[in-house]
Amino acid sequence: MTASLSGKKNHPEIAISSLIRAFHCPRQYYFLKNTEWKSSEKYSICKQISVAEKDADEENIWNTICMIHPDISPDKRPFLTSCLQAMITAPVRPWTDLDITVHSNKLHLYGLLDKYDAGTGECTLTRCTPSPKTGCWPEDRIRAAALLLCIWETGNGRPSGIYIEYIPSGIIRYYEPSPRDKRQVLLILRQIQKIENGEFPPKPMKPPCSWCRFEEKCKSHEPRRLSGLFKK
Ligand code: SF4
Repeated sequence: MTASLSGKKNHPEIAISSLIRAFHCPRQYYFLKNTEWKSSEKYSICKQISVAEKDADEENIWNTICMIHPDISPDKRPFLTSCLQAMITAPVRPWTDLDITVHSNKLHLYGLLDKYDAGTGECTLTRCTPSPKTGCWPEDRIRAAALLLCIWETGNGRPSGIYIEYIPSGIIRYYEPSPRDKRQVLLILRQIQKIENGEFPPKPMKPPCSWCRFEEKCKSHEPRRLSGLFKK
């Protein structure tokens, strides 16, 4: 579910993963809003690398992944090998808690924090994408900002940033969301709210149509011009 109705009809609780869909294009959120979200096999592989014991070898890690995902394709094994090679020199991000669901009651928002370390109060996000040359990807800025807004409301501490592990590149970056990132989270939430209330969203200024599978569907939802209706 991309959003779960929590009591109040007009305030569905929005998953941060849904926020990312709407960040790319609110219409993509509209078309996918009743679709079940499944975490990818690549994410599971990266996650297992991120939390593996120091002495775990590739075979151990693969066996654990196969236990968690019995239907995983052996074709994914080379991805594990290359990620492990990339991570050889990367420091391991410490953690005491894994997969913590964090909520913001004020924003009707929730998400999953990959790692939390109670000793330092540091938070870590695990990604299965290669890192950009510098900083983090725009969608990870939104993820980080949304997670921190939830953590600040419900967590014990008030971390100003979040570590992002780009496992396929073996790179870990620390990111402190800017006010612009937080404003963007609020804007996307407002757009989602309107969609949940039955509105079809307008096309954004720079939609990623060239790699979107909804191009045809999207055209069929465009309002027809009056001049078109009267054509002979
Ligand atoms: S075709 Fe373009 S406007 Fe339509 S959903 Fe896809 S990205 Fe958005």
